[in-house]
Parts: sequence; structure tokens; C-alpha cells
Amino acid sequence: MALVDLATAKLIADPDDVATVLEPNADDGALAAAAGGNAGPIAISFPTFADGRGFSLARLLRERHGFKGELRAIGHLIPDQGQFLLRSGFDTVDIADPDTAHVWKFSLERIGRNYQPAVRNGLPLRWEASRKAAAALDEALGKTDDLVTRIKEIANRIEGRIAFSTSLGLEDQVILHAIAKSGVIKSGAAVDVFTLDTGRLFPEVLETIELSELRFRIRIRLVAPDAAEVEDLVARDGVFGFRQSIDNRKACCEVRKVRPLNRALQGAQGWITGLRREHSDARAEVPLAAWDTERGLTKINPVADWSEQQLAAYISANNIPVNPLHARGFVSIGCAPCTRAIQPGESPRVGRWWWENEEKKECGLHVDPKREGRAA
Ligand code: SF4
Repeated sequence: MALVDLATAKLIADPDDVATVLEPNADDGALAAAAGGNAGPIAISFPTFADGRGFSLARLLRERHGFKGELRAIGHLIPDQGQFLLRSGFDTVDIADPDTAHVWKFSLERIGRNYQPAVRNGLPLRWEASRKAAAALDEALGKTDDLVTRIKEIANRIEGRIAFSTSLGLEDQVILHAIAKSGVIKSGAAVDVFTLDTGRLFPEVLETIELSELRFRIRIRLVAPDAAEVEDLVARDGVFGFRQSIDNRKACCEVRKVRPLNRALQGAQGWITGLRREHSDARAEVPLAAWDTERGLTKINPVADWSEQQLAAYISANNIPVNPLHARGFVSIGCAPCTRAIQPGESPRVGRWWWENEEKKECGLHVDPKREGRAA
């Protein structure tokens, strides 16, 4: 037997014995048993050249069953298939004849880049340029404190629709003002301003929407959840079911916020949010801009580095309309039943889902906001 290491294209002198051999017709139960058993090498058989089921089995073992050990391809394989084996999650291939090792080496080294995502390269190559562009935008935004300049920079660099999800909070009102003042919409930038109408908003939020539309001459689109999904949720958990468990609360946020947001972001190239690093520990490292691998767009947080004082000064200097609830101690304002006023000195996020632990208090709109985009 002669084994080639697919990552290095080198022959392996002393290979381990195989623990399990899977045939191409192995079902999911067989895969689970193999992955959960001995960590020794699993071999997948390719009885004929035309039988490609082994590639799928390898991917399932890696992605569905989390197998981390050595995955070996055995049977009728040719050097041209080396890259496919590697990208499907195989580590080694049994080449039977060691004299063909140099051909495998040539084939494996010939193709160094792949366009589609796979087990070995989660980030498609076509997104690499987007990731770099987002990093460049992050750097450009960091060169100025001026929000209007930042908005112009965003509009200049993002091609296509730029979604701005506003909750009508202080940060979002400041951003909306800067968008209006920058004139980017009049100049042709496709800025889509919307808010998630969860059906549980404070009336003061709706009043702020109208006031802002009149002041800034920008329509704020209301994105509603799917009516049937809301009916099912309430039928299952009750009107205030989200108070009974974290799972229920997350299910409510999923139906009323996350899914409508995902729908609203579809096709957008950029997504502007009002996240700030001071909001909570979980948001302490929010970048100004970063590539969002989950959603395939550039996520931009143009006031991420602003302090509360900066925000207040900007609002006062520009006479920006704000939600009247702020004057009554409400800081971070979400749905009415899940938001309360806070005491002076308390963290802004304390007033949201106050019955839960701090580290569990994201609604799912911002995936791992502390590090988002940086893993891309
Ligand atoms: S904030 Fe409360 S009411 Fe609003 S979607 Fe989440 S759980 Fe439901």
C-alpha cells in the first residue's frame, strides 16, 4: 500500500491501520456510527471510477457528523481527482502504485485556488475580494470622525443596495440625519431605510417614524413578520410566551425580527446598523465595517466607535427628533413588553429582556457582534 497525504502531496511512510471501511451505499446511521467510534482512520471505498458517492460521504462525515480524524480514499481513483478528494474532506489517498506518486503530486500542486466553498475552503474565492474591500472601508471610515463624510464614503464604495435597519434609537436617528444631510440618496445611492415592525412596538416608536420622515424626507419602510408564522407562534406559546423561557423568547425574536430582517437584507450589498462598542461587552470589538460571511454583504457600523457624549452632542447640535421614551429612562428600545427603563449608571442593555443573563441577551439580529466579520 502507498498513501499520499493530500495536503502536502507527499508519500506517507508508515500509515495507521484503517478502523472502518465505508462502502459508497453507507447510510447516515453507518456514517454516524463510524464518526462516533474509534478516532482511527475511516476509509471510504470507490469501487469504480464512475462512482462519486464517496465524495458526498466524506463531506457528510466532516460537516454533519463532525469527524475530525483521518479520512482515507481507497479504490479506483486517478490523480486528476486529488483536488476533489482534498476539498471533500479527505486527508489521504491509497494510490496502490508508489511509482505514480509524482503524478499525484503534480496534480495536487497544479491547482492552488478554488472558487466554490467546500470542506477545506469555507470562504469562496469570489468573496475574498469583498472581504478585502470591507477591510479597506473599515480603514477609510476610521480616518474620519465626521459622520456625513463616513456616509459618503460608504455610498461611494458600496455598489448596489445599502440597507439601513433602524430601530429609531439615538444612534439610528443620528445616522438617518447624516444620510439625509450627505445627499447620497438624491445623488442616486440606493439606500433602503427600514424598521422591523414586530407588532409589539411602542406607539412612541411609530410617532418617531412619522416625525423623522417629515423632517428628513426619507421614507422608512416597515418590514412585518409573516402573519401565519406569528399566528402559529402565539397559538403554541401564548401572547406573552417569550417570558416563560429563553427558548420561547428566541423563537419570538426569530419569527418577529430575525426572519423579517433576513428577508429585508436579501440582495443588499451593504447593511448599515447603529451598533456601538459601548453598548455592552458583547459589542466591545464591533468594527466600523467588515465582511459578513453569514449574510454575504458588508456590514457597516458607522458610529461603532462613538461615545455616548458624542452622540448626545450631535443630537443636540442638529436638533434631531428622538423617541420621547428616552426622556423617561428608556435607553435601548425594542419591543414594548421586553423593554424597561433603566437607572442612571446602568448598562444600556440592562433594560432589554431584564429577566435573562447578560451574555444571552442578543436577539439574533447581530451574529456574535463582538467579533462579527473578523472571522471571515
Ligand atoms: S423583543 Fe420580545 S416581543 Fe419582540 S420579538 Fe423579541 S421576544 Fe418577541
